[in-house]
Amino acid sequence: MAEGGHYDIVILGGGSGGYACALRAAEFGKRVALIEKDKVGGTCLHRGCIPTKALLHAAEVADSSRESEKFGVRTSFEGIEMPSVLSYQQGVVERLWKGLQGTLAGRKVDVIYGDGRLASPTSVTVNGETYTGDHVVLATGSVPRSLPGLTLDGNRVITSDEALRLDRVPSSVVVLGGGVIGVEFASVWRSFGAEVTIVEMAPQLLPLEDEGSAKVLQRVFRRRGIGFELGTPFQSVSYTDSGVQVTLGNGKQLDAELLLVAVGRGPVSEGLGYEENGVAMTRGFVDVDPLCRTSVPTISAVGDLINTPQLAHVGFAEGILVAERLGGLDVKPIDYDGVPRITYSDPEVASVGITAAQAADRGINVVEVNYPLGGNGKSVILQTQGQAKVIAEAPAAPGGQPGRVLGIHLVGSRVGELIAEGQLIYNWDAEPDDVAALIHPHPTQSEIIGEAHLALAGKPLHFHA
Ligand SMILES: Cc1cc2nc3c(=O)[nH]c(=O)nc-3n(C[C@H](O)[C@H](O)[C@H](O)COP(=O)(O)OP(=O)(O)OC[C@H]3O[C@@H](n4cnc5c(N)ncnc54)[C@H](O)[C@@H]3O)c2cc1C
Repeated sequence: MAEGGHYDIVILGGGSGGYACALRAAEFGKRVALIEKDKVGGTCLHRGCIPTKALLHAAEVADSSRESEKFGVRTSFEGIEMPSVLSYQQGVVERLWKGLQGTLAGRKVDVIYGDGRLASPTSVTVNGETYTGDHVVLATGSVPRSLPGLTLDGNRVITSDEALRLDRVPSSVVVLGGGVIGVEFASVWRSFGAEVTIVEMAPQLLPLEDEGSAKVLQRVFRRRGIGFELGTPFQSVSYTDSGVQVTLGNGKQLDAELLLVAVGRGPVSEGLGYEENGVAMTRGFVDVDPLCRTSVPTISAVGDLINTPQLAHVGFAEGILVAERLGGLDVKPIDYDGVPRITYSDPEVASVGITAAQAADRGINVVEVNYPLGGNGKSVILQTQGQAKVIAEAPAAPGGQPGRVLGIHLVGSRVGELIAEGQLIYNWDAEPDDVAALIHPHPTQSEIIGEAHLALAGKPLHFHA
């Protein structure tokens, strides 16, 4: 391990944003120090994307074994053995973690383990040593947050950090927050056999998603026996003999073994020397311009620490952007509307671009098509329900072709994998007619993208409105 010294770039935080920046900067021949107090890979690899998706996969296996008779296959579902689920989950994480450490070593990134602190606009101190850099990148990420007056005890009132390590299936859970994390845990626990109720302040689950997608998700969740209280604030929680009692703003009381608090994540920036060194911040988030430059010319910031969508691939993209800028490339700002978003529940919800409501707010006239999965052969084979909604600019003149595709919103099993095509359509400014000309393989779920664009271009195939 290096002990102090000078680098081209010193990166504080080895999560998605920090390590992506390190890997790309190394490709430019930069000497990079990556400072990490825990494990490289950060939240996504150890407490986020990967472990949750492993649980969701186990949940899918549980559902498949329960429902196999539907397909004429006789199995019996005997139960969930959480310690074995956790060992599968940990196996996945360990393997990817090892791979990442190898990749960083292969690119000759110096990884320094320890609690770092910004000491000046060009240096970070760790373990009593000082690492100076021509440039410093802040990438200290985020942690779960709570609500005023709501104490997280890590035992009955927990966050996703504890939920991922829980070695039993709770009999019942109240999930506070119907965003991506809350919805994914609700889906897992229901598949594992728990009674689940989600409490959400907004009038729909997944408040950032298109209303149409949320309605389909809510319908399927209701059928799966997942309860939810929408448009309802949390009021208080008290302990009972068997768990917790949650009181809502509408006076309702919900008893459960656990309360999962999934009300968002706050930046890790306190006490790290940012403000003292002149880095402008807003509510703990580091302020940046569209190229991730902070108010201090020698300091950039990326990932959950800045107020952009809290997604691993956003962190990757910002880390790469900073590395390329420092490598002398002509970089362009990220179009955050063009970032694909997926909630990996059953059913999955995936989107890119803007919603119908956002189009209305921005004064854009749009046309839209809702293609139900019931018309798609592969989806019927999988016995999944849902829809593909595509929004495009309204034709400039009556009878004309719609303009740019502005939003693609999908719901159904496995649709997350389809949104990669959606992001090409959105980010390459395609129009429905461009996509209608492309051939989608049959029978696949990708045909829902083709069919929706065919319909928007005025030449529907298997579609009747
Ligand atoms: C339950 C859950 C599920 C998620 N699922 C998804 C998903 O499916 N897809 C997706 O795209 N995103 C998902 N996310 C979000 C994703 O994990 C984050 O957006 C991403 O990890 C942010 O990367 P980051 O580098 O900004 O921060 P982090 O990953 O939080 O990394 C920051 C790193 O900095 C280190 N650090 C902090 N302070 C210091 C210090 N003083 N000194 C040294 N090191 C320090 C930390 O130890 C950490 O390793 C999920 C998050 C959660 C919680």
